Amino acid sequence: MNIFVCIKQVPSTNKVQVDEKTGVLKRDGVASKMNPYDLYALETALRLREAHGGRVTVGTMGPPQAEAVVREAYMMGADEGYVFSDRRLGGADVLATSYTLSQAIRSVGDFDLILCGKQTTDGDTAQVGPAIAEHMGIAHAAWVSRIEVARDGVIVEQQLQDVIETVHMPFPCLVTVEQDIFMPRLPSLKTARQVVGRPVHIMGLDSFLDTDPDHYGLSGSPTQVERIFPPENDVQREMWQADRAAEKLHGLLKQWKFL
Ligand code: FAD
Repeated sequence: MNIFVCIKQVPSTNKVQVDEKTGVLKRDGVASKMNPYDLYALETALRLREAHGGRVTVGTMGPPQAEAVVREAYMMGADEGYVFSDRRLGGADVLATSYTLSQAIRSVGDFDLILCGKQTTDGDTAQVGPAIAEHMGIAHAAWVSRIEVARDGVIVEQQLQDVIETVHMPFPCLVTVEQDIFMPRLPSLKTARQVVGRPVHIMGLDSFLDTDPDHYGLSGSPTQVERIFPPENDVQREMWQADRAAEKLHGLLKQWKFL
């Protein structure tokens, strides 16, 4: 079974500031790590490989330093890893990011299953996975909390708002996984030693099947950020003495016409 896992490098802190002029995250000097939700996708891939054989390939679109997350994936057990990096890919919105990843994955090889995290902790849109599948014209399921290989494909349980849906998808297909699917393993010292010299492949736009720069980066991004700003914090606080709290709360509920 040939599995590809999409992993993204994100800031390690949620205190990242936004440049108000350009609307871009100020990433300089901010420590990075693998998007935590992608650890669950990688763990799922490793368990499927353990049960059914095959290879686990990981890939990330980002600057050259995103190699660090590929190395992290090697230490958890991934077989091969790619960084899709090219100046012409910069400034990509969700459409261009997912198109780039679909092209990159196709250029790397044929995969039975593509796994993604359910969302990232920086962009947070949860759109990239399903959008990759749409660009590739393959079946996909999001918010998956259980997966099993069957009938030349996978049977997955999707956690929808009010129901859990079980679906069968033939290979090739794409799945975005929920946190409760499996507990991610810690990188092991033994594996870390084995993968010290393993190369990380760097791939640019010229290696993709579609090399038209207008389909990538800023040129391929119809979304334009007009303005980005932190919401104003207008929360008012009051300290109440414990012996008067019930009386105060009753007064406020009456004032707001809840009583
Ligand atoms: P989600 O949809 O929340 O991620 C879901 C899953 O998809 C992840 O768990 C992971 O498995 C996979 N995934 C997502 N992104 C990647 C990736 N890069 N590589 C591998 N797998 C991935 N961001 C920048 O960093 N630099 C920019 O210059 C920039 N410019 C932008 C300009 C515009 C106009 C807009 C709208 C956005 C820009 N962004 C930029 C943000 C960028 O579009 C998002 O980071 C990107 O689309 C991923 O979306 P997300 O983080 O919401 O991923």
